[in-house]
Amino acid sequence: MEKTETPLEMVRANIAKQCRIARREPDDVTLIAVSKKHGEETIVPLLDEGHRVFGENRVQEAQDKWPPLRERYEGIELHLVGQLQSNKAEDAAALFDCIHSLDRMSLVKALPKAFEKAGRKVPCFIQVNIGSEDQKGGVAIAELAELVAAAREAEIPLAGLMCIPPADIEPAPFFALLGKLADENGLEGLSMGMSGDYETAVMLGATHVRVGTALFGARG
Ligand SMILES: *Cc1c(COP(=O)(O)O)cnc(C)c1O
Repeated sequence: MEKTETPLEMVRANIAKQCRIARREPDDVTLIAVSKKHGEETIVPLLDEGHRVFGENRVQEAQDKWPPLRERYEGIELHLVGQLQSNKAEDAAALFDCIHSLDRMSLVKALPKAFEKAGRKVPCFIQVNIGSEDQKGGVAIAELAELVAAAREAEIPLAGLMCIPPADIEPAPFFALLGKLADENGLEGLSMGMSGDYETAVMLGATHVRVGTALFGARG
């Protein structure tokens, strides 16, 4: 009998295919399953399939959802992909294994204190406002080097750069630009690509793709 592919198998296969074309190793791409707004009943099947890397965009929601799941499943790795308020930095440091939204000086100040209180340092991606959009989070490209320097000075472990390109236009130039900015700043990781464009992102060097809808279906 033919077994139907699960969404997880499909996304993994797509990543592997792009890696073959780009002559990259699939193991160099981390698939973050973004489970925001989804409950346990949607998340557990993915855990049962063996997936362990998840992303959330709100500290409070993740605090409610993940501690019970961590009691049932070993090796869960949680990524904060949404905006972080300075007053939530300590909670975030205690719960998350990686933060993708370091984008301003106030966080460079708040995070070291949060790490100390939490007793652990969490690797951070610096989020770049890659399309220079007023409404988007992320540091302006012109201010990136200064923020990188300040984060290094504060001994925040830097994982790389993260971006969310403008909606409804070809994302490839923005992904390529993020790669160039990472090179210029001596950073390795590239957190880029969501359900609609992760294949393009992998082609252009993404080390972390953040995929929600393609794995879990639409959010309510
Ligand atoms: C929700 C979200 C995603 C996942 O988006 P999908 O289009 O559902 O794959 C990725 N990154 C961030 C920052 C998000 O907030």
